[in-house]
Amino acid sequence: MPDRPPHRVFTTERGSFCLARCDCGWTGMARRARSQARTDAERHLAEAGHGPEPATGRPLE
Ligand SMILES: [Zn+2]
Repeated sequence: MPDRPPHRVFTTERGSFCLARCDCGWTGMARRARSQARTDAERHLAEAGHGPEPATGRPLE
């Protein structure tokens, strides 16, 4: 298996906002809802090839 950078995502709070971060250095947008930050994290994992399915587009918001 080829070496891959680690993609371990977690959420962190900044003031009244919550944002997702990843060990690879990626940082998501600041969100008011933790659930939205987690969605950002899941999208990042998908784009990195670790998600259950490839990212083919952005979901409607
Ligand atoms: Zn990552």
